Amino acid sequence: MLIDKETCIGCEDCHPYCTVGAISSVEWESGNVSEIDQAECVECGACFKRSGVCPVDAIYMPKLEWPRSLREPFSNPDVKHPSTTGQGRGTEEMKTNEVTGRYTYGMAGVAIEMGRPGVGTSFHDIQTVCMGLAKLGVEFEPNNPLMELMVDKTTGKINPEVLNEKVLSAIIEFKISSDRLKEALIAVREVSTQIDTVFSLDLISRVDSDGTMPNLAIAEEAGFTPRPNTKTNVGLGRPLFKEA
Ligand code: SF4
Ligand code: SF4
Repeated sequence: MLIDKETCIGCEDCHPYCTVGAISSVEWESGNVSEIDQAECVECGACFKRSGVCPVDAIYMPKLEWPRSLREPFSNPDVKHPSTTGQGRGTEEMKTNEVTGRYTYGMAGVAIEMGRPGVGTSFHDIQTVCMGLAKLGVEFEPNNPLMELMVDKTTGKINPEVLNEKVLSAIIEFKISSDRLKEALIAVREVSTQIDTVFSLDLISRVDSDGTMPNLAIAEEAGFTPRPNTKTNVGLGRPLFKEA
């Protein structure tokens, strides 16, 4: 996103709209105007059409060329990801239920939500986490826009062309058997010291018939303090899977 300095009147109304604090005032000719730090801007559109905040239409989006164009779908919820056609983070997000059985008993789904809130993340940091996980042989979720950028699933390496790009958030999703979950969570904890962003970790698990979730105890053993919550959708459907 750019600001036309000839048009900007320096009112600063756009500053609080920026999701990553990339807009600041600068001296320009006889007064102050606003400027967007191009390295920090994630092209989320919040200061532009999503808010329409500028009283003089000084904010505009130039045509985004590759690899910068990657920033927009990962940051603007109104823009679809080309690879998954999903909006937002471009993934259905990992859930399980009695119809899909996406995670059967003895399995866990893990989602690492990188960059939120209000910090953003680079693909360098995303690659660092993916590489730490790939060493364990985790099964990355195939229907996730990060997979199109991962050039080697066995190492977790991301296309080098995009490593310097910054986005508002991205979710790394994978599946692992419960007996290896502790190892994976410890690996996430270790790799968290090597990155310059925030993340939250989601653990997806089926509830056993006695109402317990063994994966929660495993997360606690790995040093996490899980906050369990569930969502109940009532629907009809034949199971699409067979419990092992
Ligand atoms: S597009 Fe988003 S990140 Fe870029 S300056 Fe506007 S609000 Fe900030
Ligand atoms: S809202 Fe428009 S005029 Fe006001 S500082 Fe931002 S770009 Fe300039």
